[in-house]
Amino acid sequence: MTDTPIGFIGLGIMGMPMARNLMKAGFPVVCYNRTASKAQALAKEGARAAGSPKEVARACPILITMVTDSPDVEAVALGPEGILEGIQRDAVLIDMSTISPSVTRTVAARLGDKGAHMLDAPVSGGSWGAQSGTLSIMVGGDEAIFQRCLPVFKGMGQNIVHVGPNGMGQVTKLVNQILVVGTMNAVAEALLFAAKAGADLEKTIEAVKGGAAGSWQLQNLGPRLIKGDFAPGFMVKLQQKDLRIILDAADEMHLPLPATALVHQLFASLEAAGLGEEGTQALVKAHERLAGVQARVKS
Ligand code: NAP
Repeated sequence: MTDTPIGFIGLGIMGMPMARNLMKAGFPVVCYNRTASKAQALAKEGARAAGSPKEVARACPILITMVTDSPDVEAVALGPEGILEGIQRDAVLIDMSTISPSVTRTVAARLGDKGAHMLDAPVSGGSWGAQSGTLSIMVGGDEAIFQRCLPVFKGMGQNIVHVGPNGMGQVTKLVNQILVVGTMNAVAEALLFAAKAGADLEKTIEAVKGGAAGSWQLQNLGPRLIKGDFAPGFMVKLQQKDLRIILDAADEMHLPLPATALVHQLFASLEAAGLGEEGTQALVKAHERLAGVQARVKS
């Protein structure tokens, strides 16, 4: 399996370390990136740089896309010089970007018309997980195709779960994001309440993080937030992209998601204030403006 060339399209914050990990696992990698300098950088480490997604598809029976949003996956998969123009019969496109489930199903159907397959395999774990090869990967698509690609997934992640047919990987990732933003909002409100009541914020986090109220957000982002560290692990503007996909998908299903919609609006107030590139823990700033009080420790 490890002599199978893997095509990698999209060498951004996530894609670059994921491609590197595949190379470390022994796979030959053929890469393409819209900004050619990033593909050239990986070529210096042993990958082969191709001139278009079509050229990558011609060379590889398994291809990965890790681009930004639904229109970007459509462009690299279905657009001019795209994957569809070069894909081999029985080849597999694994899309690891976070995009809309319905766009995923459309791309899968177009590939199916050419005798090729698709897996939607979005990830969680952030840039640190991408670098350390510990991503959680939620995979939608045919079970036998998933099994065929499992060694490739194992080169990039640890918790790898086949969750159902095409689109269900993306649905599962959106579930993940609903949980993440709801929890982040609770952390922001709780710490603001603690601050207004005069509590010691560090001791408050210490006291509650191990119990029923514990969460990844409280444990990892709570201490940063109270110190005024708003550097991004995950940027507000990318979170907003995911929230738009969630709310559109909910709208298609006529499903109300009141709390998620509220957090989307609070994040929109941060973007309006020019804070879209801060980390999601900056959500507390939206609440602080409403409350006229800050949740910060004195440094
Ligand atoms: P990023 O650093 O902005 O990288 C995006 C990549 O996609 C770049 O290589 C970019 O090329 C390429 N791209 C975008 N639009 C394109 C188009 N229309 N045609 C061709 N190439 C295009 O983003 P990222 O953080 O790696 O995120 C990638 C995906 O992973 C997103 O769907 C994101 O939601 C998801 N994700 C991110 C994280 C995280 O912590 N960052 C965590 C989990 C999931 P250029 O170099 O030319 O711009």
